[in-house]
Amino acid sequence: MNIDFTTATFKDFENIPGLDMMERANAYYDFLDYMKSNGHRYRLQNNTGCSSIMNVTAENTTKEFISFVTSDYLGFTQHPKVKQAAIEGVEKFGAGTAATPLIGGYYSYHNDLEEKIAGFFGRSQDEAVIFTTGYTANSATLQILLQKEDIAIVDMAVHASVYEGCILTNRKTFPHNNLEALEHILKTSENQYRTKLVVIDGVYSQDGDTAPIEEIYQLVKKYNAYLMVDDVHGVGILGKTGRGTIEDTGLLDKIDIITGTFSKTFGNLGGYVIANKKLTNFIRFQSRQQIFSATTPPPTATGIIKAIELIDEEPHWRLKLWDNINYFKKGLDDMGLDTGTTCSAVVPVKIGDPHITGDVGKLLLDHGIYTNPIIYPAVARKDARIRMSVTATHEREHLDKTLNAFEDIKNKLHIAKK
Ligand code: PMP
Repeated sequence: MNIDFTTATFKDFENIPGLDMMERANAYYDFLDYMKSNGHRYRLQNNTGCSSIMNVTAENTTKEFISFVTSDYLGFTQHPKVKQAAIEGVEKFGAGTAATPLIGGYYSYHNDLEEKIAGFFGRSQDEAVIFTTGYTANSATLQILLQKEDIAIVDMAVHASVYEGCILTNRKTFPHNNLEALEHILKTSENQYRTKLVVIDGVYSQDGDTAPIEEIYQLVKKYNAYLMVDDVHGVGILGKTGRGTIEDTGLLDKIDIITGTFSKTFGNLGGYVIANKKLTNFIRFQSRQQIFSATTPPPTATGIIKAIELIDEEPHWRLKLWDNINYFKKGLDDMGLDTGTTCSAVVPVKIGDPHITGDVGKLLLDHGIYTNPIIYPAVARKDARIRMSVTATHEREHLDKTLNAFEDIKNKLHIAKK
């Protein structure tokens, strides 16, 4: 085995030529040992529920941290009305479904949840399908809609679940948000494929920037293609009424497929697909993940239904979130740090070098701040960053303490923009 642990990344262990599965697992085990003994962290343990203040076990100590690691953007994981709705779900329907949706595991609360999420986007119940996770919503939808005669044309920064969804079909990627490159692929793919489906995110998960949806929609129509938008980081946050990145473009009822998650703004677990009812019908009854896998349990479904209602009933959470985002981003920008092109609740501090990024992450922990250092393969090798998710439950004092920590670390490690 020829892997140098000092420069290796987790990706290097996916496939090592000549090593069988057990030998690869052994090599990986040794690598993790090496990482741990050199002070690297790869997973911390949260001892309390999801919150902007978390009790965390990090490097053998357990203490309270200000947390920026969850996508609980509006704080709905802990909202008393969401918790109450989940409790009522268990009391009324029990703990689980014990069957897959097509053979007895489709319950009234699944119907209610589909109706609620479809209604949220101004659609009828039969235009929504729910999945166990957002990951499955993307991968299952693409796997059943596109076959080897078709093509997915994807922005290179889309989520891993989209890439997984393309393993049975043809795939071409275009550089992030690059309209010229997208048009070139659309033009050169004309008449070559049966279906051309362009797949983008509304908000990109590592940079927090948005897609130029209107321009992409125009191109897609010009070349007789279809458009799928994964808006997991936009829904509940962007748009006049929180319907996400697409809302203010006026295209909510025109995008062919919208996918999302219940694990971020809605504070729970699950995914959904919104599309024309013929498409949702096809996905609902044909996708292997619907046929062979159980779906959302009762407390999850009833909790999500309440969270969806809260977007309209309690819009002050969204306003507070935006106050926090604007305050925090301005503080980081003012001190010369590079927050890139974000226009959402995902706020990165771009550093570049993966080792310095790891050091920044450790120093932040020393200051009592819990963030995620993001390195290759989640981002390009020289584009490492500290990734933070701002939430409505952060208070000013949390943000100020974090800004002070960055000021201190900036001076120690020289991480300001040149
Ligand atoms: N799409 C994007 C852009 C994401 O960031 C994520 C979650 N990291 C997903 C899909 C998958 O969502 P879930 O966690 O519900 O599987």
